[in-house]
Amino acid sequence: MKKLLVLVALLYNSTLYSQSDLSYFLGPEHPYNAEIPKPNELLGYEVGSWHVSHDQLVRYMYRLAESSDRIRIENRGTTYEDRPLLLLTITSEENHNNIEAIQKAHQQLTEPNSENQTIENQPLVVYQGFSIHGNEPSGANAGLIAAYHLAASEAPETIEMLDKLVILFDPSFNPDGLQRFSYWANMNKNQVLTADSNDREYNEIWPGGRTNHYWFDLNRDWLPAQLPESQARIKTFSKWLPNILTDHHEMGTNSSFFFQPGIPSRVNPLTPVMNQKLTKKIGEYHIEAFDKLGSLYYSEEDYDDFYYGKGSTYPDVNGSIGILFEQASSRGHLQESDNGLLSFQFTIRNQLTAAFSTLKAAYSMRMELLNYFRTFYSDARKNAAKEKQKAILIGSPKDPTTMHHFAEMLALHEIKFHQLKNTVIRGGKTYVPETSYVIPLEQKKHQLVKAMFSKQRSFQDSLFYDISAWTFPYAFNLNHHYENTTELASSEVTEMTPPKGGVDKKGNYAYLFEAHNYYTPKLLNLLHQNKIRVKVGLTPFTLEGKKYDYGTYMIPAKNQEIDEQELFTLLKKISSQSQIKITGVNTGSATGIDLGSRNFTTVKEAKIALLVGEGVRSYDAGEIWHLLDTRHQISISKIDIKDLRRTDLGRYTHLILPSYSGSSLTTHVSKIKEFVQEGGVLIGYRTAINWLDKNDFISLEFLEQAPIAEGISFEDKDKFRGAQVTGGAIFNTNIDRSHPINFGYVNSNLPMFRNTNLYIKADKESYNNPIQYTSDPLLSGYISEENLALIKNTVPFKTSRLGRGRVIALTDNTNFRAFWYGTNRILTNAIYLADKM
Ligand SMILES: [Zn+2]
Repeated sequence: MKKLLVLVALLYNSTLYSQSDLSYFLGPEHPYNAEIPKPNELLGYEVGSWHVSHDQLVRYMYRLAESSDRIRIENRGTTYEDRPLLLLTITSEENHNNIEAIQKAHQQLTEPNSENQTIENQPLVVYQGFSIHGNEPSGANAGLIAAYHLAASEAPETIEMLDKLVILFDPSFNPDGLQRFSYWANMNKNQVLTADSNDREYNEIWPGGRTNHYWFDLNRDWLPAQLPESQARIKTFSKWLPNILTDHHEMGTNSSFFFQPGIPSRVNPLTPVMNQKLTKKIGEYHIEAFDKLGSLYYSEEDYDDFYYGKGSTYPDVNGSIGILFEQASSRGHLQESDNGLLSFQFTIRNQLTAAFSTLKAAYSMRMELLNYFRTFYSDARKNAAKEKQKAILIGSPKDPTTMHHFAEMLALHEIKFHQLKNTVIRGGKTYVPETSYVIPLEQKKHQLVKAMFSKQRSFQDSLFYDISAWTFPYAFNLNHHYENTTELASSEVTEMTPPKGGVDKKGNYAYLFEAHNYYTPKLLNLLHQNKIRVKVGLTPFTLEGKKYDYGTYMIPAKNQEIDEQELFTLLKKISSQSQIKITGVNTGSATGIDLGSRNFTTVKEAKIALLVGEGVRSYDAGEIWHLLDTRHQISISKIDIKDLRRTDLGRYTHLILPSYSGSSLTTHVSKIKEFVQEGGVLIGYRTAINWLDKNDFISLEFLEQAPIAEGISFEDKDKFRGAQVTGGAIFNTNIDRSHPINFGYVNSNLPMFRNTNLYIKADKESYNNPIQYTSDPLLSGYISEENLALIKNTVPFKTSRLGRGRVIALTDNTNFRAFWYGTNRILTNAIYLADKM
């Protein structure tokens, strides 16, 4: 009764007025608090008549937070373009006053003995996020109204709902992409809206606003979490473990509205059956709302829940329910479509409808979802107890840096791991405490660990929306071994510091460093920037009692541009910047090659141009840009193919052509050939190697197969063809460590990621096949039987001379999505060591 009185009082104090400007979105009659600013009061226009820029969105969210006791706002970090990564926590004022206790009680449900914890009054946690693809803007624009409504609505059901829900409101998953796209859509808008799809408004220029600053698809990074946007988000996710997470996207203009569940046969087997049942039950609330609205929709026929790197799938392996929404895109403001004219406002209203139906479901299914959450963690614990394997030993004996980055990822997902007690040998590999960890399998994040280490090779379905494998020890090229006890674990790692570089002593003769550390290219670049001569040893040797591997780098102490003392001081500084240990030596006399040997050859400075623009796959180009720019701090020039005609290529030593198809390069063949013939290095990736082969840069013999459909009906045509797609799987290679392309690698095997069906026949001379797929190469993921037969013993790498220069062809993506640390070295070796091959 008392509560009712409070509600009545609230109603009485507010203005019950028609939201003339927002009634299209929010309905005609609803009590709103007039003190809360509507979006147009800040934006200066009605939502949907322009595309909100991220700057404007930020200002509005701060204004809302200032004016509402229901909202707390925080900035969790910045994007590469220094835009804030905002989070609004929206709940009742009373819950806000109690928020830490609520968060604690929520987390408590994942702990042992949580069965007795009472949940009658416990709020459910819902994470709502928008427009992870910047050019799918209806989500973020709907977010303006959703946030307004949650702040201002004084309807009893809203007030009651906010008492039972904590809403983590992420108004823009991809600020840089949203900003980039809003500029495009707004700058091309006509006063008389032009629905013609051919209009410039609907056709963005390369690379478009989908991706972040370095052209990454942020909706593939939830599990690898290599990018700042994901890292901030996963931190929030780990802290709260929300019960529902929604991810608002857009799809093709002629579609309608999609909500999950996706295709049932493509659910990751680590996701509980109950997850999909609950997703479907939540779907009933979307159905109710969309039926009422009369908006077309569908579910279960598209998309899937297989790869845990997506926003709607990552939650599923964390006891949460991830939900994907896909709205047909108007892209700009009004576009013709199979369903009639599709306005931006209409797309925003659908997103808003789904956001509200989610909250209604969350409110109504609160107890059921909290119970599911609790059961998920207790089941995981029971499963772990039953399993024979108790821990995973993981290590990288010579490369503490890669190991450190791997551990950072574990920590972000709040996976527990321990120091290794003592040096052990497993499967012929040595694990030392300094560069190894032990991950116990009996822990809260058991399912997530399993997902990270999964090596699934047989599948119910042969179609995948995205990659079929991501096994992290392979991606990072780390040694790992399953243990039946946790005996090897010493104390838990709770704090990490990056590995330290340094110079052990002043070298009177020279300085040496091996090539194993991940940041070796960074150090090489720093040496070049400081005009220091550096050479590489082509074979192993022993000096002053220490063994040095293939590809050890040597810096002569004398005859540099700076004196010996300055050199020593500089090396101390840059070795520390690159986390690499340098050894000073007092003699050049070695067992094996002496330091003055002809087998030490000069490593030249690289002036790198990366071809970008029409025809180039922007993801692949972005990965290369990101690797060289952010990891190794190597400056590169991005050259748009359309500017190639007037570019003097003589300024560069290396030209990188990422995966490419199309015709934009057709008129530049002779220019690029001249560049190579005069001594340049041309590195081509994936589909670009077809172009290299066709235009006689390099001669490649491809193996091909094209199965003919027999007994396949028209209905099954897409499945039949889709089954031959290698969407992303992991394959084992044998590597020849004496070849410069492999300098730095310790093992004689290297797992490679591939998502093409390009198979190059091995050379008849074995020394020309430094990286070769094994005869049983599939390590993880899906490939058709026909393609598996083809790939055996083929080569992903080929190089040959052309004039005074060199051409390098790679069938595989060695830089995949910033988390394939293991093969990053292949690109930098192709850059720095091409002239030694
Ligand atoms: Zn999308």
